[in-house]
Amino acid sequence: MKIGIIGGGASGVFAAIRIKELHPNYDVTIFERNDKLLKKIYATGNGRCNFANSNSIEGAYNNDFALPILKDFDYLAIDKYFDSIGIKSRKLDNLYYPYSLSAATVAEKFLKRINVLKIKFVLNAKIDNYTKNKEITVNDTKYTFDMLIFACGGKSSSQFGTDGNVYSLLEEHGYKIEKLSPSLCPIKVKENVNKLDGVRAKAKVYLLSNGKEVYNEVGEVQFRSDALSGIVIFNIAFMINKFNLQANTTSIKIDFVPEVDKRINKEEYNSYLNEKLSSYLVKNNIDIHNAIFAFKSFYTFDISHVSSGGVSLDEISTNLESKKEKGIYFIGEVLDIDAKCGGYNLMWAFASAEKVAKSI
Ligand SMILES: Cc1cc2nc3c(=O)[nH]c(=O)nc-3n(C[C@H](O)[C@H](O)[C@H](O)COP(=O)(O)OP(=O)(O)OC[C@H]3O[C@@H](n4cnc5c(N)ncnc54)[C@H](O)[C@@H]3O)c2cc1C
Repeated sequence: MKIGIIGGGASGVFAAIRIKELHPNYDVTIFERNDKLLKKIYATGNGRCNFANSNSIEGAYNNDFALPILKDFDYLAIDKYFDSIGIKSRKLDNLYYPYSLSAATVAEKFLKRINVLKIKFVLNAKIDNYTKNKEITVNDTKYTFDMLIFACGGKSSSQFGTDGNVYSLLEEHGYKIEKLSPSLCPIKVKENVNKLDGVRAKAKVYLLSNGKEVYNEVGEVQFRSDALSGIVIFNIAFMINKFNLQANTTSIKIDFVPEVDKRINKEEYNSYLNEKLSSYLVKNNIDIHNAIFAFKSFYTFDISHVSSGGVSLDEISTNLESKKEKGIYFIGEVLDIDAKCGGYNLMWAFASAEKVAKSI
């Protein structure tokens, strides 16, 4: 069995390793457009790689399709596998990191497995074609496979090779691509927050649609000159996409003192908040418990960590094989599956790769 994997990121490399471990006689080749494998992994989790999460997966993803696959290869299974290849974990609250707190450890151990298992890989190999017979031509060389796995990621952070280039090729083959949007990114707001640039505040953040609460989370809001940022805001961006909220009726409410029940007089704001933030609220006559910011837009794809949308789930069966082209599989972020922050996106990359490795 000859298998070609398009994309040498988290899901593609993990799939190659697991396929070779489970089926040593299979011939596996990874095609990666960058000049090295796993370029994005080094940047994950602020260079620490948050690779799993022990909290419930219910509600953490944009849809439930992924859940059975994630349950089959859950955070404990991922941690156990990582341990077996020499990656000890460190759990900070519910988040799993390599014990070294260095994403390079994960990349290095994966690359070691690639070496040991003698998995072939072709670098600087951008795939922009394939035939129904699973033939691809890259840099003037033709390859033929029995099976092709698309593991080429989404459209976010093109500096790592993921600019959504494969979607037009897949559209040519008749695949439906769900609308792509930046997710896990800062949110531009209509209000002028220029004076708050650089301010950070722990707060309770509510996502409102037509004034009604859709979601809330406590976390640190980080102001930019034109936007709100921070993990809590990234998760709000995810929810806006998940619930397909319309820009002009979406707003973000921030309670800057959620622990304080009583009404607070404006003269006291600076006893609770930093000077810049308290004077902004006072000057603009904004309630410290109820600061509303109107959604303007997401930041660009290049600033986002993950994109929502991608290959429609209508196109694949539960083992991630294409319904219209036998022997074609999709794993990781290229699919219309994304999640909030906290290791859930890498969990999907690994669990979907494991699923395909086990089902072939
Ligand atoms: C800065 C940053 C931090 C993040 N931190 C975390 C975190 O801590 N925890 C977490 O769970 N998630 C995190 N994520 C998200 C996570 O990295 C991705 O969801 C995950 O890497 C997706 O895996 P993938 O294999 O589907 O795609 P990717 O890892 O993006 O890999 C896709 C690969 O395909 C290659 N490729 C694309 N097109 C072609 C082509 N035509 N031909 C050949 N190769 C191609 C790309 O160059 C790339 O190497 C982070 C993302 C970013 C950008």
